[in-house]
Amino acid sequence: MKYDRIYNFSAGPSMLPEPVLEEIAAEVLNYRGSGMSVMEMSHRSEVFKTIAQEAEADLRELMNIPDNYKVLFIQGGATLQFAMIPMNLMKNGVADYIVSGSWSKKAYTEAKKYGKINLVATSEDRNYSYIPDCSDLPISPDADYVYICENETIHGTTYQQLPNTKGKVLVADQSSMFLSKPCNVSDYGMIYGGVQKNVGPAGMAIVIIREDLIRTDDLDPRIPVYMRYDTHANNDSMYNTPNCWCIYVCGKVFKYLKSIGGLEEMARRNEEKAKVLYDFLDSSKMFKGTVEKEYRSLTNVPFGTESKEKDAEVVKATKAAGFDNLKGHKSVGGLRASIYNAMPKEGVEALVAFLKEYEAQHQ
Ligand SMILES: *Cc1c(COP(=O)(O)O)cnc(C)c1O
Repeated sequence: MKYDRIYNFSAGPSMLPEPVLEEIAAEVLNYRGSGMSVMEMSHRSEVFKTIAQEAEADLRELMNIPDNYKVLFIQGGATLQFAMIPMNLMKNGVADYIVSGSWSKKAYTEAKKYGKINLVATSEDRNYSYIPDCSDLPISPDADYVYICENETIHGTTYQQLPNTKGKVLVADQSSMFLSKPCNVSDYGMIYGGVQKNVGPAGMAIVIIREDLIRTDDLDPRIPVYMRYDTHANNDSMYNTPNCWCIYVCGKVFKYLKSIGGLEEMARRNEEKAKVLYDFLDSSKMFKGTVEKEYRSLTNVPFGTESKEKDAEVVKATKAAGFDNLKGHKSVGGLRASIYNAMPKEGVEALVAFLKEYEAQHQ
């Protein structure tokens, strides 16, 4: 690989497209004649305003975001949203949560501080290796929203079909699948994601929220001003100093995605890439995927051998061979390959070739 970069299979922060990094490198000392880098620039400057506006416009185009949705850039990662969502969206004080893994569980636990939170489905019984059936859930008549984590980064599961919310607003954490494939925004009341998984540097979430869900005067006055969606919506995400650098890099990634043909093309590439790895896991005697086939994630692929000791040896061997961050999350064990947008197909092919060879030598 050019620049001696390695294939980084980290679940996040993770790889960024090389052409994007090259552009950033070229602009880091003097951004387009401004005489400074984006890191040093006032967020109120015309130069930065253009960067932020273009980022939003490009994202709107990529995802085909309807005009009645706001796009917000909010700091605090995805985790801050676990609290902002119940604080801002609960009018009746009731919400329904589907817990399909560690991230939805965290969101559920946080939300419980703010109201009556119903667990309407869970896949905890089999260590979150599948997505529960969501076709006929006991949705609460007074639920303000139904919450899902659409792609569970740690467990490697994804929804093939959105839950039947029986008319209630759907809120989805898309952190680890954001922009990995086309998405019909109007199926949701709100979509959000921490960007460091599939889009940019860490430290920010992108929130796409239907305007009528953004409340103003009937909110609990004790909610910190930063944690109100109307604060961000009314100030073009610049109520205070935003994460300028992150917005800038995300904006570059949006332009890059547009240049390769948008989310349809990205999905095609991701499917092709994931197939290489899943086909191998399905044919291997030593390695097995941990997720029920139907619910396999396009971006996070947990797998392992039949023993912890072997798993640890394989992780060590992959690292020595230039494949980094393949150790699985402690709650699942084994290995996990995160193969986000910026992971080239060659990276997955090289990993599979390595694992095949490893298997042949260790039978
Ligand atoms: C990583 C992750 C989070 C947490 O993101 P932070 O930006 O670290 O707060 C939340 N949800 C999902 C699905 C994730 O993958």
